[in-house]
Amino acid sequence: MNVLITGGSRGIGRATALLAGSRGWNVGINYATNASAAESAIADVQKAGGKAIAIKGDVTNEKDVIQLFDAMENAFGPTNGVVINAGVTAQSMALADMTVERLRLVFDTNVLGAYLCAREAARRLPGASKEDCYSSIVLVSSAAARLGSPNEFVDYAGSKGAIDTLNVGLSKELGPKHVRVNAVRPGIIDTEIHASAGDPDRLGRLGKQTPLGRPGGADEVAEAIVWLLSPASSYVTGTNIDVTGGR
Ligand code: NAP
Repeated sequence: MNVLITGGSRGIGRATALLAGSRGWNVGINYATNASAAESAIADVQKAGGKAIAIKGDVTNEKDVIQLFDAMENAFGPTNGVVINAGVTAQSMALADMTVERLRLVFDTNVLGAYLCAREAARRLPGASKEDCYSSIVLVSSAAARLGSPNEFVDYAGSKGAIDTLNVGLSKELGPKHVRVNAVRPGIIDTEIHASAGDPDRLGRLGKQTPLGRPGGADEVAEAIVWLLSPASSYVTGTNIDVTGGR
């Protein structure tokens, strides 16, 4: 498969790139600013047995998104898997304390960015015969969409609610073309996103509160994403897989 992963340089995106590489897939690793993380992800995908390119681009910028898909096609031919993963959160606080700049960052990245990438995928992913169902879009949502994240980040939770709704609608739009659309909803996962949002202890604190008693690994989320990309899930569309340790 030729799989484009937004935010593929770190965290869940990177783990997905490595797993995809280990299957011999071609991987496009998009990132926003951190080129060295993208370069090291490429090296790891190659070690795992796949081919990879890094593509710099801000998912909130329409031109960048178009160039991202162009670069992928120029390198590998038609893209048949897209993981819409790039996302941000921000410092924990009540809605009453949030600035408009923060709200714009969260909604621009997590909603506008994801919808632009999904639109581009909808335009470009090749349809397939009924048997193949080989083109697949995987959206990375969050358990926050159903928990609401009060006093932490109701903005982020709402942005992921928009992703769950996109999953419902787009899977119905693209089903007749035999392009599948699904989402994963990670819970509390060990990546840098928590420290980036100013709360590195969040992982240990909330991980303990899950029924499985620990945070998840990015590689455990990647397993669900790669399954949804692969033909092994050929009759699955419009669904959401929770990878949350039971929370
Ligand atoms: P992470 O470790 O912070 O990595 C974020 C990735 O997204 C990086 O590759 C980053 O690139 C990229 N990115 C950020 N803004 C971007 C933009 N505007 N354009 C393009 N790329 C951008 O995050 P993560 O924890 O792996 O999260 C990945 C996804 O999972 C997000 O959608 C997040 O909401 C979701 N999720 C995470 C958790 C969790 O506990 N970790 C739980 C539920 C859902 P640079 O390095 O260049 O900045």
